[in-house]
Amino acid sequence: MSQDRLIKIACSDCGHTLYSERRKKGDNIQKLEIKKYCSKCKKHKLFKEKKK
Ligand SMILES: [Zn+2]
Repeated sequence: MSQDRLIKIACSDCGHTLYSERRKKGDNIQKLEIKKYCSKCKKHKLFKEKKK
């Protein structure tokens, strides 16, 4: 019920940012890379977690 698992991810191509849910799998979650549809590129692109 909490929303504190949302992270910002950025398209590796154009830099467009989205929000994604952080998965808790116990192991490596420091470098999240995920394929998502980018509305700017109009394609599926690799998104990476954005660091502040
Ligand atoms: Zn993009």
